[in-house]
Amino acid sequence: MAFGWRASGSTNAELVDNLNRQGLFKSERIKEAMLAVDRGDFAPANPYMDAPISIGYSATISAPHMHATALHYLEDVIKNDSRILDVGSGSGYLVACFAKMIGPKGKVVGIEHIPQLVQLSINNLKKNHASLLENGVVKIIEGDGRLGYEQDAPYDAIHVGAAAPEIPSKLLDQLAVGGRMVIPVGRDNQEFLQIDKISEDKLVKKRLMGVIYVPLTSKEEQIGHRRIQYV
Ligand code: SAH
Repeated sequence: MAFGWRASGSTNAELVDNLNRQGLFKSERIKEAMLAVDRGDFAPANPYMDAPISIGYSATISAPHMHATALHYLEDVIKNDSRILDVGSGSGYLVACFAKMIGPKGKVVGIEHIPQLVQLSINNLKKNHASLLENGVVKIIEGDGRLGYEQDAPYDAIHVGAAAPEIPSKLLDQLAVGGRMVIPVGRDNQEFLQIDKISEDKLVKKRLMGVIYVPLTSKEEQIGHRRIQYV
């Protein structure tokens, strides 16, 4: 059995329980958030398997253990009234988890560049979390996530769900002092980085682990290319 599949379950609760057994949750907060958000609302197939699943348009909903890991590294900067930016929000799963970790004065902005995925995430969220969209705690924006979303900046936490060739400077600009970004960086060899903004001109970067993410790129690069095979 492939690594990462060990946590698979037959229900959302079983999946979360198995992730917990693997020691992925530093605190109850992340476990509670993942229990409150049924991955079945967001993954089109095998939702309780610990693996990434295609959501179309060359995108995937990330594997549950990667979602848990991202939440783990951001947890310390997520407070009741935090503002959070999720770049490449895809299925909308993580946006919902972030929203469960903040209160009504906090805000989660998901930014996604494929319009059909923006719609998919809104439909997914409406299944069991419509109130988050109605009360404005969650907002999904169609746009280029490499530019961030100036209107609601600065953000206490920024999660980037696709691998950038280099760290987008606009995202660093939109990070609050005291805030943290986690981002996969690189092309062939990707590293998951944690970047803390200590003061207006001081960033502290830490390498967390090697990862495999789809690229943070242009819409054309992601879906425009058709592979032509000559036989
Ligand atoms: N975290 C999400 C999606 C991960 S896949 C989930 O688990 O469901 C990465 C996503 O990043 C895809 O949906 C892809 O369309 C999006 N993406 C890639 N480049 C982007 C860009 N420049 N701006 C916004 N979204 C982008």
